[in-house]
Amino acid sequence: MTTIIDGTKIAQRIKEELKIELEEVKTSLGKEPLLVSIIIGDNPATKVYVKNQCKIFDELQIKYELVELPQEIKENELEERIVKMNNEPQITGIMLNLPLPPNINQRKIQNTISPLKDVEGITAENLGKLVYAEFTPIVAPCTALAVIECLKETKVELKGKNTVIVGHSEIVGKPILLMLLSSLLGSVTPTVCHIATKNLAEHTKNAEILIVAVGKSKLITAEMVNDGVIVIDVGINRVEVVDEKGQPVIDEKTGKPKTKIVGDVDFESVSRKASFITPVPGGVGSVTTVMLARNLVNLFKTQLGLKVKPYKFL
Ligand code: NAD
Repeated sequence: MTTIIDGTKIAQRIKEELKIELEEVKTSLGKEPLLVSIIIGDNPATKVYVKNQCKIFDELQIKYELVELPQEIKENELEERIVKMNNEPQITGIMLNLPLPPNINQRKIQNTISPLKDVEGITAENLGKLVYAEFTPIVAPCTALAVIECLKETKVELKGKNTVIVGHSEIVGKPILLMLLSSLLGSVTPTVCHIATKNLAEHTKNAEILIVAVGKSKLITAEMVNDGVIVIDVGINRVEVVDEKGQPVIDEKTGKPKTKIVGDVDFESVSRKASFITPVPGGVGSVTTVMLARNLVNLFKTQLGLKVKPYKFL
């Protein structure tokens, strides 16, 4: 039997926990956090993501300020803006939405954000804490955290399990790998596949846990997985809706082909073999923005000198 891992349910539980924590700080100290979210230029996909952020922070009654900057902004101007935000005590966390204009060095600018305000957990200092077990992290990349939450939801013991991660990006694949290796005695046994992997199916067939973060619909099909595999699909792809004959379905209102969001895994066929699987939408993506709020509350409490429960991935 296959269990669908319900990301919206996980997100709801975490939201309830955050509301309680925030209420406690508000009642005892009268303080509230503030997230500043920077968006540069006019990218429609980024605007959709920002809209989702606003919705969740609104629901949690967390103050959220959107700073919209022009595409033409110079690197040193952006750097100055961020340094100023680092020094403003009322700002708890700074989020830098991607993509940045081509004239701006992304890594350099991301590392201008103070690690104490790095709500996305993407500065070299905070990413480095994922390597050293003794540096208990309080912020980490949100999508990777969301994957861990989805795995925990299965309640399956992960220790030693053959785990294949497809995708090795800095914000998804690599942090997931480090999180799943974070226990001295209880880590998984990982394999990481990427664009240069010669025979992907050879690896995925060995997986007891399969995490896919690539950005290619139907990359993983039923023939590529074993019965009973746990599948976490991180991919987000917009594809055309087709009818039984494989023809595009036209939207009557717009006259254009209808589209829908799917993951990297062929859900219909793979879900018949999997023991657990995340859907897209409604899986990892639903948990990701809530983990941004989790990071923010951790920063907020740290800045106030309050005790924070560090992340434990395994
Ligand atoms: P990326 O482009 O930075 O990395 C893609 C990775 O896939 C690379 O490691 C690359 O080597 C690998 N790859 C490419 N083609 C491959 C192939 N044919 N076989 C095996 N590996 C291949 O992307 P990213 O930022 O890591 O995002 C990956 C996907 O996850 C995208 O679809 C993105 O939209 C989605 N995403 C989802 C969330 C969420 O919250 N659900 C968050 C971030 C990203």
